[in-house]
Amino acid sequence: LQENIAKAEGYLARFKENTLGHFINGEWTLGSGETFDNTTPLDQSYLGKVAAASVEDVNAACEAAAAAAAGWAATPGAERRKILHRLGDELEKRAEEIAMVESMDCGQALRFMRQAAVRGAANFRFFADQAPEARNGLSLHQAEHTNFTVRSPLGPVAVITPWNTPFMLSTWKIAPALASGCTVVHKPAELSPLTASILAECADAAGLPKGVWNMVNGFGAVAGKALTEHPAIKAVALVGDSATGKMIQAQTAQTLKRLHLELGGKNPVIVFDDADFERALDATVFMIYSLNGQRCTSSSRLLIQSGIKDKFLAALKERVANIKVGHPLDPETEVGPLVHTGHYDKVTSYFEIAKQDGATIAVGGKSLRDEMGPGNYVTPTLFVDAKNDMRIAQEEIFGPVLTAIEFDTEEEAIKLANETVYGLAGYIWTSNTGRAMRMAHAVEAGMLWVNSENNRNLPSPFGGVKMSGIGRDGGDWSFDFYMETKNVCIAH
Ligand code: NAD
Repeated sequence: LQENIAKAEGYLARFKENTLGHFINGEWTLGSGETFDNTTPLDQSYLGKVAAASVEDVNAACEAAAAAAAGWAATPGAERRKILHRLGDELEKRAEEIAMVESMDCGQALRFMRQAAVRGAANFRFFADQAPEARNGLSLHQAEHTNFTVRSPLGPVAVITPWNTPFMLSTWKIAPALASGCTVVHKPAELSPLTASILAECADAAGLPKGVWNMVNGFGAVAGKALTEHPAIKAVALVGDSATGKMIQAQTAQTLKRLHLELGGKNPVIVFDDADFERALDATVFMIYSLNGQRCTSSSRLLIQSGIKDKFLAALKERVANIKVGHPLDPETEVGPLVHTGHYDKVTSYFEIAKQDGATIAVGGKSLRDEMGPGNYVTPTLFVDAKNDMRIAQEEIFGPVLTAIEFDTEEEAIKLANETVYGLAGYIWTSNTGRAMRMAHAVEAGMLWVNSENNRNLPSPFGGVKMSGIGRDGGDWSFDFYMETKNVCIAH
């Protein structure tokens, strides 16, 4: 741990000493000069000043992206592929730095963040390889006509990202946008801005032309709003809260932009009596307590069948009570501090709400500030005796907090799974294949995993239904979002 802390301090020194600016038209700038302080959730200590973009700063970034759009769109796909692979190389070179800075900025344990840069690089490489063919569409033949489609990049697009796993999620959006031939203005979350600047540095080092990649720091209500309202921006890809998705839908209405919204969730993990007990238990623990539970696809509602309920909950309690909470750079740590004091207040408020609603706190339900100092540490928590209409079963808590609800029949499981405004992900554990298929069809979610924890396959579609979002990422779904399709019909 001490060695990791010393290394991280080395990486963080430049952020503490210099105000972190915006990257606009290939230059670092402090813009209008407004700033805000960035702190670490570890102990609320100072991580440096960050420039807060004004509307003028955002306009400058959008204009740079607009000026660079035609040149980047005309750059051959093979050339874009080469540059994006070089960007992957840059990310891999700086993998340790990215992981440590990310852990210190957002509190997520290093053991998970170690994968961030590697996965980020893989995202760029995957979409880079498809850049040369991305324009090609379909040929549709009729007796007297032939239709064919071609695709072209939309132009400048906005990418707005959240504070949870901010690095990886940014690459996931920006990689297909650039591979499609779009230029980008990225606005990272104000609560964890550091690794987005490393990403922009790597893009610059990889040789992306000026104006193709722009990054503005700042707040949603000013910088984010201005970005979504700018007429040059053709599409907005947001990863964030459902409430933010609604605001952006309203903000973009006047300029009629294309939207891709990846929003919140209250995802069920449904464990039937005939499930593989140990694997279901491992996956249940992993999918809510890894990444501090600050994960959109976390399995935050456990629906447990009555036949194994007692045995499963007893084993679960033991596992949850033994989760190691600690310094995010400690290799042993599984759960680190929550991202921000505001979020800590939100998560801890549910400990009281659970009691008021009549649920039982089986494990945790406590702040760890008395024991661990001023960081945003909470105990991994398990609520039992819960009903699906309780707030702890309906609201996205976004912390290491699991709500367990009992069910008897398959029909009841489907009903409980679907009685939520969200529909991002679901997890089904059963050894009955027919039941797995029925559940997969019946559960309202964009993504379902059967007898598996969350496993991301880049060519597969990723996204939610209901209040969890609009649109899909991954494979050709991403190209379809960042490109316009034109149909040409030729008479024979
Ligand atoms: P948030 O919605 O508060 O912020 C996300 C981004 O939107 C930030 O950059 C913020 O500055 C910006 N923003 C806020 N208001 C804006 C506005 N009016 N106009 C433009 N931009 C605005 O979300 P958060 O708290 O940073 O992240 C957590 C949320 O993200 C959770 O709800 C989580 O489920 C969700 N999330 C979803 C996915 C997914 O793939 N579905 C993935 C990760 C996180």
